[in-house]
Amino acid sequence: MNSKIPEDLMERAYQGKCTKEDALQLLEVPPFELFRFADELRDLAVGDTVTYVVNRNINFTSRCVGTCGFCAFRTNNGKVLSIEEIMEKVRDAEKANATEVCIQGGLLPEVGLDFYQGIAEAIKAEFPEMHIHSFSPMEVYHASRISEIPVKEALRRLKRSGLDTMPGTAAEILSDRVRKIICPSKLKTAEWVEVVRQAHAAGIPTTATMMYGHVETREERIDHMLIIRDIQKETGGITEFVPLPFMPYNNPVGEKMIREGRYATPGLEDLKIYAVSRILFHGHVDNIQASWVKLGKKLAQFSLHCGTNDLGGTLMEESISRSAGACHGEMITVDELEWMIHGAGRIPKERTTLYRRVELASGNLRKISGCGAYE
Ligand code: SF4
Repeated sequence: MNSKIPEDLMERAYQGKCTKEDALQLLEVPPFELFRFADELRDLAVGDTVTYVVNRNINFTSRCVGTCGFCAFRTNNGKVLSIEEIMEKVRDAEKANATEVCIQGGLLPEVGLDFYQGIAEAIKAEFPEMHIHSFSPMEVYHASRISEIPVKEALRRLKRSGLDTMPGTAAEILSDRVRKIICPSKLKTAEWVEVVRQAHAAGIPTTATMMYGHVETREERIDHMLIIRDIQKETGGITEFVPLPFMPYNNPVGEKMIREGRYATPGLEDLKIYAVSRILFHGHVDNIQASWVKLGKKLAQFSLHCGTNDLGGTLMEESISRSAGACHGEMITVDELEWMIHGAGRIPKERTTLYRRVELASGNLRKISGCGAYE
């Protein structure tokens, strides 16, 4: 059936041992053969269930001392939300049945770890059950430097304050050549890896992202995925892999690309990245997430047949991708997510951040609408 994919490569994929050369070879395979193989591995790993999380993004400020050339979100003087303003948003999230809040913001010059701990502590004091999935490796690294404490200690304190998991953002492409061009003042590859390893050691699982489609080569994309796979082999702390296509609008890196006649990645290329990531991570990271914000709802739905099994969150607000030209909305309802999943012939299931099923405070399990079942 997969005649264009060599038998030995497929065997390595089943065993979770695909190499860089295998991944590069897979990118040359006719797309629908690649998608079919990725879909087979998705079925082996997680079956027909497609998950999503009811969550809320909260960006506490756009003010940032960073210099990332791909960023359309940062400002020099954006407002910084107070703890009370953040809590108002968390209250709204709780009313909307969110199980997770995802809080990130720009890098403020004057705030250290106390600021981040204060946010986590305020949330846990009022909503002990709310899962705090917050603070990127860059924010943790930045806060630990301002507070002059080691990253390991910063993570230990954040955990004690209530941080549950961290988004594996700020990864961009884990290549120092690329980082020097697009985000020279951001933490280097080895530093990102170290923050994530330390987070896992502190009992804080993370996701892992990859922002592709700017100045990186195909090889650097694959190297990035293999770095993540190596971390996972060591710690087992990565819950999902999230490929994120670069949005080239309103930012210097994208504007230069557009002047050179290069635009956002074509949808077919996005789907190949999702498929190759499913194959490379087989046996290591079960969950490959499609971003409906970046891909758009229809391509995200189609990606469910190319290796993905999770559609991320309902979000409630989204400003980072929107600033860079994403036009697919800031929120999506559970009903629409389930509609998309049913439309792809799959079974929708709300999950927690850690991919467990959602239980209501009443002890009942949340109804999975559409298929009429209780999980
Ligand atoms: S990506 Fe983050 S760290 Fe970089 S400039 Fe934008 S807000 Fe700042």
